[in-house]
Amino acid sequence: MLKVRKVSGGYENKIIVSDVSFSVHKGEFIGILGPNGSGKTTLLKLVSGALQITAGEIIIKDMPLPAFKPAELAKILAVLPQSTESSFSFTVKETVSFGRYPYQKGLFKQWSETDEQAVLEALAHTNLTHYQNEDVLSLSGGEKQRVFLAQALAQEPEIFLLDEPTNHLDLSHQKGLMDLLKLWTKEKQMTVVSVFHDLNLASLYCDRLILMDQGTIVSIGSPWEVLTEESVQRVYHTDVRRQPHPNVPRPQLAMMPAGNKEEDAEIITTETLSIQPKHIVFQSPFSLKTISSSVVNSGIGWFSTFINRHVEMDYNCEDSSAEMKQYIQKEGFRVSDTVAMMTAIPLSTGVVKEYRDGDTSLFVVVTAGIGGAVDVSQSFRYSRTLQPGTINIMIFVNGHLSEEAFLQGVVTATEAKAKVLADLGVKDALSHTIATGTATDSILLAATQKGRYFQYAGPITDLGKGIGKCVYQATIKAIQGVSKE
Ligand code: ADP
Repeated sequence: MLKVRKVSGGYENKIIVSDVSFSVHKGEFIGILGPNGSGKTTLLKLVSGALQITAGEIIIKDMPLPAFKPAELAKILAVLPQSTESSFSFTVKETVSFGRYPYQKGLFKQWSETDEQAVLEALAHTNLTHYQNEDVLSLSGGEKQRVFLAQALAQEPEIFLLDEPTNHLDLSHQKGLMDLLKLWTKEKQMTVVSVFHDLNLASLYCDRLILMDQGTIVSIGSPWEVLTEESVQRVYHTDVRRQPHPNVPRPQLAMMPAGNKEEDAEIITTETLSIQPKHIVFQSPFSLKTISSSVVNSGIGWFSTFINRHVEMDYNCEDSSAEMKQYIQKEGFRVSDTVAMMTAIPLSTGVVKEYRDGDTSLFVVVTAGIGGAVDVSQSFRYSRTLQPGTINIMIFVNGHLSEEAFLQGVVTATEAKAKVLADLGVKDALSHTIATGTATDSILLAATQKGRYFQYAGPITDLGKGIGKCVYQATIKAIQGVSKE
């Protein structure tokens, strides 16, 4: 659809973009990224023909760019420039109608039904139907942006070049615009090449990205290939961490604010842990990165209050999460900061174990009832729910854990728990085989993300040794405590 071959160009005698090559397929959505002054806008102007190239060639639909008559080119290619200031007083609909200019034929230009339809459709797609009779000059920056977007859409281009189209738009209009562009690449096979500042937005919507630096392309490829932590550091001189989007298979970059050195010394201890009949609560002086299977705020997040609440054996609630949130508030904690799990085991049987070996330090809190012990290898036989026993394990680590270490830490703790049940000969009541846990166990692993870095937490790593030992000893003691009750 569009081929850019060894193109150079710029302003007067100043070459800005040099030796740039890429091609774009029909229906593809390409994002051009790069720091300020890297030549993105200049490249877009060269591609649209607004600036003359000094070397190379630009081919549109198999024809060199200079071979097109302006009106013919305008039917194929639309441009939404960065600043779209209008100084003339026209209505929104009139302004959008200018997009149909390339389609007007003959000496007496006739406005056809097709023209009208294209304009109405463009107004509708940009949520401007209600504004069609307003004066463009009276609109806000974001609304004007949408009017010029509608004008370009009314042109029904095959190739759409945009320069920072989301600049003046609020979140919902950014999403609206990007969804629309994406839809049109799919439904109308429109080809989109757009400059973006927002790397995450580009990553989310573009099929391929072009990363520019100092007038040249430094990388081109899928968002996963282009948006690496290393390339962003190299080109933008900014420290970022890359994470997968929660729902879409695209990378997202998180900025890393400058660190506070004094903070690095902060640690957590059992001093702020309290075991009360109604709940066990640990309050950290700062937020901990946490992974857990809990009733409130399970999954991955940052929390500073950790609760294991006692409920009656017959606790039965339609919406235990909502009920638990009420409890958290009633007790004076903040729901947004709190992870909470529950158990019917008397909390006086809860066991705390601390571990320190060199620069590895952690503590665990376990409550363990084995009433509903299950052998996971036989659980497929169960057709009924069990009287819940519940082993709740909370692990708090002074250290910076990798994602791998979080996962391995949970596995290591689970293995330690299973070993306790094996050593105590706890049996599954149905299969009469050695149990591996109960039906409603919860686990939580929280880390300060300061101080020593732990890449791994498998059984014979420094961190895994601590987790294995503490979880094993605490769980045994907790089970024995419950049986004495
Ligand atoms: P980007 O879009 O990546 O921010 P630009 O393409 O706008 O970068 O600018 C690249 C370089 O070209 C900058 O150094 C800028 O100063 C220069 N430049 C931009 N516009 C002009 C112009 N009209 N005349 C001369 N130099 C320009």
